[in-house]
Amino acid sequence: MADSDINRFRSDLLVWYDKNRRVLPWRAGTGEVADPYHVWLSEIMLQQTVVAAVIPYFLKFLAKWPGVHDLANAEQDEVMSAWAGLGYYTRARNLYKCAQIISRDSKGVFPDQQKELKALPGIGDYTSAAIAAIAFGKPATVVDGNVERVVARYFAEEAPLPDSKKLLKQYAAILSEGRADRPGDFAQAMMDLGATVCTPKSPKCAICPVRTACKGYESGMAAGLPRRTSKKEKPRKVGYIYWIRNIKGQVLFERRPERGLLGGMLGLPTSEWVIVQENMEPVHLDFVRNKKNNFCLDRNLKVFHSFTHFDLELNGLILNDYSSDLPENEPCFWVEERDVFNLGLPTLFKKFVNLMLHDEGSKGTG
Ligand code: SF4
Repeated sequence: MADSDINRFRSDLLVWYDKNRRVLPWRAGTGEVADPYHVWLSEIMLQQTVVAAVIPYFLKFLAKWPGVHDLANAEQDEVMSAWAGLGYYTRARNLYKCAQIISRDSKGVFPDQQKELKALPGIGDYTSAAIAAIAFGKPATVVDGNVERVVARYFAEEAPLPDSKKLLKQYAAILSEGRADRPGDFAQAMMDLGATVCTPKSPKCAICPVRTACKGYESGMAAGLPRRTSKKEKPRKVGYIYWIRNIKGQVLFERRPERGLLGGMLGLPTSEWVIVQENMEPVHLDFVRNKKNNFCLDRNLKVFHSFTHFDLELNGLILNDYSSDLPENEPCFWVEERDVFNLGLPTLFKKFVNLMLHDEGSKGTG
């Protein structure tokens, strides 16, 4: 691509961006300098999550912890609770670790180079490029799903994702690498173009600022790009979820282990989750196994949840008037029923709590 074509692409896109940029709570206004804390927080939240879902969480975090020192001084449990419902909980643990490093080791100042940014917890290729470009105005190639779509269409690349990821990044680099004119705005303009004009199903080519040299538009292939290799069907896992109430009417919860899915989050106790296979049953937790005969299994009391790599079905088991001591070494504790909704639970457990507390009249809870 000739240098003059790259310049043309960039200037057409930036002119469009100046008039059509999305107003987002973490973005600096026109002519303002972006706050690295806001950019970092939003970019971590935006990993694998859509803008609309992130906005209320970003605002909540900012209200609770207006700066990186505030976040670093919070309790980890408080941060995990505030993150509950946003998913991919490793991000929250890394966010907290990263805040502590920045607060303690660099007096609250984020590094402005991609290499140093990438050495921090939870910051990879994409996030380091986004922070370097948006918060510090450093030339960087920022490639998210929106940008992949724009360049796949602009260059009419037919090789399917995910194998073509590297190639699409090279295309994006052609348009951005080494370019010092407004790197942050350019990165955000590419994302905005993908999110509002070069949209997944029906690209609005008629109003696109870079239409004149777009090969996807010219060839009529745009809407079908980028291609993707068909996804394998996800495995299905099953298990039990326990609703255990003591004689005071309190409900048993646990803090999940740090490592693993939903790590560090609060939840209801569950059995192991096993892949559905013939003759394979999930095994009950040790400390409830001897109470099994007292459990009430309601076939209708099920919760379904889709994780990235598998679908999960948990069958609800209810035990009332649990009177034994809690097992040692189990991170379990009792919660007053009226406080259950304030716990900050991941969506999987929130679904089950809703089922129990909004629908309990119809359940056999004996
Ligand atoms: S012309 Fe159409 S396909 Fe090409 S970048 Fe613009 S919206 Fe996307």
